Amino acid sequence: MKVPFVSLEPIHQEIETELKEKIKTVYKKEVFIQGEESREFEKEFADYCGRDFCIGCGSGLDALYLILKAYGIGAGDEVIVPANTFIATALAVSYTGAVPILVDAELEFYNLNPDLMEKKISKKTKAIIAVHLYGCAAEMDKINMIAKKYDLKVIEDAAQAHGALYKGKKIGRLGDAAAFSFYPGKNLGALGDGGAVVTDDRELAEKIRMLGNYGSMEKYHHVFRGINSRLDEVQAAVLRIKLKYLDKWNNNRKITAERYLSSIKNPNIILPKIKKDRQSVWHIFAIRTMKRKQLEEYLQREEIGYNRHYPIPIHLQQAYKEYGGKQGDYPVAEMIADTEISLPMYVGMKKEVDIVIEKLNCFI
Ligand SMILES: *Cc1c(COP(=O)(O)O)cnc(C)c1O
Repeated sequence: MKVPFVSLEPIHQEIETELKEKIKTVYKKEVFIQGEESREFEKEFADYCGRDFCIGCGSGLDALYLILKAYGIGAGDEVIVPANTFIATALAVSYTGAVPILVDAELEFYNLNPDLMEKKISKKTKAIIAVHLYGCAAEMDKINMIAKKYDLKVIEDAAQAHGALYKGKKIGRLGDAAAFSFYPGKNLGALGDGGAVVTDDRELAEKIRMLGNYGSMEKYHHVFRGINSRLDEVQAAVLRIKLKYLDKWNNNRKITAERYLSSIKNPNIILPKIKKDRQSVWHIFAIRTMKRKQLEEYLQREEIGYNRHYPIPIHLQQAYKEYGGKQGDYPVAEMIADTEISLPMYVGMKKEVDIVIEKLNCFI
């Protein structure tokens, strides 16, 4: 039996009727941008995150960009970003004209290592983007403490962590503002691209709403040179349905993760660790192994899907070569990039979980 790395089939089957009906309603209404669905979704998602405001936008990358831009961050500024993350976190900073300053990760937990952060802060630093990588919250108390000391904004990149908990609090309300992605494969995913910002800051929320809508609140009155980045009605309608299932679906991922953690026993495999004070939503189940090439070949033979998150760290990407990053600059991020493999993880896995466990336990 083949096991895919990810499949949306189980959840899409579960909500198929509801989804089709809803899409039909939107289609008939002929309001495709900035209508009732996006307005209602924004309310519901703000509620879910425990925030006062939510602004839908075109993608997770846009959500990060809009927050930075609304804070007035741009050329001459620096923003702290983890070295081990998806490149969008850094790209959002670059698009404003500011420079992303990388901070290495904690090997065991994959997220940004706050103890390495302070020496990267300069007079130009304006904000920190804390990424809750793979579904698990970053070290938010320490990050917030350092941010306060240097008067920096804290932005959460919550693209992989919808619903995760940190010391009992939902992520998305642990900094000044948070960016979410609704890319189809995320824990809460649309049927296309989508994103959102959540915050309690009214002024910021209004500015972001305008920036994403050509810089205007009133049609043809443009206050800023904004962009077009809005969550459309079809996607918002789909997300409203999926949001109702999110906690249940996250719990299903948790059950799979717990089975992996308790049953995969192989000295070649390093399982992920989660600190006691947080609850991951297991967007990605990331293991590490010194025998990655062999394990990948083995998984291919056994028809088990896998992936790498992420094979090339940001400082070694061609897109960032102007900063002269080289091998050895961020040893932990490099170590993760060289040894990480992501196992199949999606809602609705059944026998597949047993197969993955069995195969991994037989790998030598
Ligand atoms: C997916 C992702 C993004 C970008 O989201 P898009 O909707 O694809 O633009 C940003 N940061 C992280 C950590 C992500 O995983």
